[in-house]
Amino acid sequence: MIADRPVRIAGAGPSGLAAAISLARAGRAVEVHEAKSDVGMRFIGDLQIIEGASEREPVPDFLERIGIARDFYFRPAEWATFYDHRGVARVIRSSQPFGWFIRRGAEEGTLDRGLLAQARNAGATVLFNSRLAAESADIVATGPASPDGLAREMTWRTGEPERIDVFFNHRLAPGGYSYLFILDGIATFGCAIVADFKRIDDYFQHSVAAAQRMHRFEIPADARVGYSYMNFHLKRHATASGARYVGEAAGFQDYLFGLGLRYALTSGHLAARSILENRDFDELWQRELAAKQETSLVNRFLYEAGGNAGLSMFVRQAGRARDFHRYLSGWHQRRWWKALLSPMIRRFWRHKGRCQHKPAEHWCRSRDTEMKVPPLGPVQSP
Ligand SMILES: Cc1cc2nc3c(=O)[nH]c(=O)nc-3n(C[C@H](O)[C@H](O)[C@H](O)COP(=O)(O)OP(=O)(O)OC[C@H]3O[C@@H](n4cnc5c(N)ncnc54)[C@H](O)[C@@H]3O)c2cc1C
Repeated sequence: MIADRPVRIAGAGPSGLAAAISLARAGRAVEVHEAKSDVGMRFIGDLQIIEGASEREPVPDFLERIGIARDFYFRPAEWATFYDHRGVARVIRSSQPFGWFIRRGAEEGTLDRGLLAQARNAGATVLFNSRLAAESADIVATGPASPDGLAREMTWRTGEPERIDVFFNHRLAPGGYSYLFILDGIATFGCAIVADFKRIDDYFQHSVAAAQRMHRFEIPADARVGYSYMNFHLKRHATASGARYVGEAAGFQDYLFGLGLRYALTSGHLAARSILENRDFDELWQRELAAKQETSLVNRFLYEAGGNAGLSMFVRQAGRARDFHRYLSGWHQRRWWKALLSPMIRRFWRHKGRCQHKPAEHWCRSRDTEMKVPPLGPVQSP
């Protein structure tokens, strides 16, 4: 009986800590086991975004509802510049934030450290250097298990003017995009790809050079570098052997842009509720996340199938939209034709053999269906 002993959570990422905060606040004894020596160890102080367009509920209200205080870096995203593969730039404006920037990593001001402090203040015990097997956990929040997407990032301190630049070009970031965020003296350059993982360094270098041809920015020698991957899969059950799987361990992710934070916080909170209210976790997450994930699969298919011409159209429409938040919300809406397309994409992209994803039976994508991209030539200096 869980009620007689501490709830055991494997993983102190956003999903595990969101669950711990809700449980501990409700008076439950909670033990969070974290394999690493600190929170956020796979990140480098980089800027990430909690997206705000997939739900009607604004991000600050969402955080408040699930009991998370904003004691970390938190800044609205209301503008950006998008570039297509020809270098055409479009300024994006939004009447309400399309997301909120946060920082990730094992340092002050990050989301990870903020959630850790809140979990401890609520009474949860967090044990570092403590790896917990899924079979011994009540909540499995261990993050991605194998790469469905891969990113290389760099972060450094800078005095350069603020920028939120996103580069859409399948040649330089196959299936993904690259980005330069400079906010409040922190710069993050990243290249996220969904194909051809072996050549991530090539794509990263070409993406940096292309961004520098748009406008020069200095990357100091002491910039921090990190590689990390992302998981996406679809399933009916995010439970196995009595454990609830949350966050990326359960494959929860917006597959269009590889954004998993809102899913991680939501699923962690729902796992806690299912314990506190003695409710079926699968029923809870399916109601909030299943249709949304399915729509994101279709969005991803369209993103890739349209090639660079499709991305150019996306950039143009985003630039023309009076309110980018509203435009992006349209992509997240479940339309009848997306519901029809989804089973076809599932059949077409299905991975048939064994994979490393965790909980129970699920759908995941075959690597054979990745975008095919020709090799890149030498990097052209800016
Ligand atoms: C470069 C990059 C940029 C990203 N940018 C964004 C963004 O801008 N917006 C967005 O929404 N999403 C973004 N994402 C995705 C987002 O970071 C993840 O979806 C999110 O971190 C998932 O949270 P999680 O709690 O499931 O897993 P994690 O954050 O990976 O946490 C899992 C934790 O579990 C620990 N662990 C693993 N195994 C065990 C074990 N057996 N026992 C104990 N502990 C264990 C790990 O050490 C880790 O600390 C990005 C991802 C990457 C890689």
